[in-house]
Amino acid sequence: MSLNALVEDTDSLVDAAREAVCRIFGETYDPQRWGDWHWQSRHRLTRLTHFEQLLQLTPAERRGLELAPGKFAVSVTPHFAALMNPHDPDCPIRRQVVPRQEELVVGEGDMVDPCGEDHHSPLPGLVHRYPDRVLLLALDTCAAYCRYCTRSRLVAQGHLEPLARRLDRIVSYLEEHTEVRDVLLSGGDPLLFSDERLDALLARLRRIPHLEFLRIGSRVPCFLPQRITPELVALLRRHRVWLSLHFSHPRELTREVAAACDLLADGGIPLGSQTVLLRGVNDAAATLKALFHGLLKMRVRPYYLYQCDPVVGTSHLRTSVATGLQIVSQLRGHTTGYAVPTYVVDAPGGGGKIPLQPETVSACEDGVWTLVNWEGKRFTYQDPAYDV
Ligand SMILES: *Cc1c(COP(=O)(O)O)cnc(C)c1O
Ligand code: SF4
Repeated sequence: MSLNALVEDTDSLVDAAREAVCRIFGETYDPQRWGDWHWQSRHRLTRLTHFEQLLQLTPAERRGLELAPGKFAVSVTPHFAALMNPHDPDCPIRRQVVPRQEELVVGEGDMVDPCGEDHHSPLPGLVHRYPDRVLLLALDTCAAYCRYCTRSRLVAQGHLEPLARRLDRIVSYLEEHTEVRDVLLSGGDPLLFSDERLDALLARLRRIPHLEFLRIGSRVPCFLPQRITPELVALLRRHRVWLSLHFSHPRELTREVAAACDLLADGGIPLGSQTVLLRGVNDAAATLKALFHGLLKMRVRPYYLYQCDPVVGTSHLRTSVATGLQIVSQLRGHTTGYAVPTYVVDAPGGGGKIPLQPETVSACEDGVWTLVNWEGKRFTYQDPAYDV
């Protein structure tokens, strides 16, 4: 089969999936409407009645969706929903966003606030764990909700006051704390603010002279790539912002996502990506390699690979740390260094991110280090005599 035929075949499948999503809302697929992020936001799948029209639900998914209202947030953009395989309950896209009954299982060591963020919060929605940088939870909504979210205690729960009411105190705190040089805006998803509100927020932070580094953590380019408009890119550029994206699986790297990343990269926005290691989604070296290679092609640098935090109700989505180390050992040295993110555990209880890597130091005796390379071969490095 020629490549062209393959592309056309894929295109017709994509159109069919989009038709199916639009049908849920009694609409027909219209590429222009589909490309409008407001339309996408208004047509998110949130209820059992939405999902059962699109997917052959398993009993565990049906139960998860029945129990969800008022307990855990469920929402999927049409863009992301069209990537789900209706016939495969193990579809890696579906596993990330469709709740299952297993979310009610409280596993050993599960926590509501696994990273201990609430203990390092001088103000609501501000986490100051590391001396020189803070995490600012700008809002508590996302374009879609990940079943493994570290902040499920917060997102879509309505506990976080609107930023407008918190911002004055946050700005005063940052002005007083001259040791803070780096602000990470996250949430929730800051790119869900309107351009005007985001502009005003960034302008306010930019007026604090000791803040040298501003970044935004966002899954919008993955869930809602239509939101990445030339106007948004221009405003991010004006405020010299870095973006940390969030991707889990190579299938998420669609044409629209590639176009969004192109706009951002061409607009001068440095792009990193974070991935959570998830059982049945991306817990295989080949899957992660395809994801990381795809990201590099889109000029996105894989930054962190997270061991999944022990959030209540996520044990069915977590792997062991040994699996993580095994996967990393199949990446490091086997592919471009830029394609290998740092594998970290965000220490439960509030210890921050701890990098893990497979053992590469095998022994050290009298200044002679025995080191193991990516092929498992041993090499030695002799320390200089004067550094004792
Ligand atoms: C991850 C994180 C940061 C940023 O850490 P980097 O290693 O600089 O990316 C800052 N504050 C908190 C609370 C975090 O969880
Ligand atoms: S996008 Fe981020 S904050 Fe939002 S639900 Fe997913 S993991 Fe949580």
